[in-house]
Amino acid sequence: MAITTRVVERPIEEASYVRATFKGLALTFKHLVDPHKVTVQYPEEKWDIGPRWRGTHRMLTTEDGKAKCVACGLCPTVCPCNCIKLVPGVDEQGNRYPAVFDIDEFRCIFCGYCQEVCPEEAIHVGRHYENAEYDRKDFVYDLTRLTAQTHPVCEMWDPADPKGE
Ligand code: SF4
Ligand code: SF4
Repeated sequence: MAITTRVVERPIEEASYVRATFKGLALTFKHLVDPHKVTVQYPEEKWDIGPRWRGTHRMLTTEDGKAKCVACGLCPTVCPCNCIKLVPGVDEQGNRYPAVFDIDEFRCIFCGYCQEVCPEEAIHVGRHYENAEYDRKDFVYDLTRLTAQTHPVCEMWDPADPKGE
């Protein structure tokens, strides 16, 4: 089979690198003088995060300061990445409580299933994201640390109000 060469004409009118460069520069200069900045000077400035933000967990407590968790075992069962460690205990009155309740925030994918499934509305994903650590083990939040969190909790998606209005 004979080898042929096909010459493709470059459509200069439609594709000009010079014009594209000037278009890009014009956009850059437009943003330089635009009073509506899209960047913030973090950490001095922060975005308002939405009510459905799913971040650092928080364990809610009863009026006497105990974790509301009754160690039912649903959240570690439903957790898709197996990052909740629960060891149940039973007190003198026969009530179950979490003897150990740890969440590894590093493994967590913040799906919110634990909050959705909890029958006591005890564990919540929270509207908080500043949980960076230097050491991997410090991402594991035990019960004391989870109950000490004070940030607002996530408002889960409501099918009756899909747009959150
Ligand atoms: S938010 Fe999802 S991944 Fe994270 S602990 Fe809860 S169930 Fe597990
Ligand atoms: S689902 Fe709620 S009550 Fe059950 S173990 Fe998890 S936090 Fe505790």
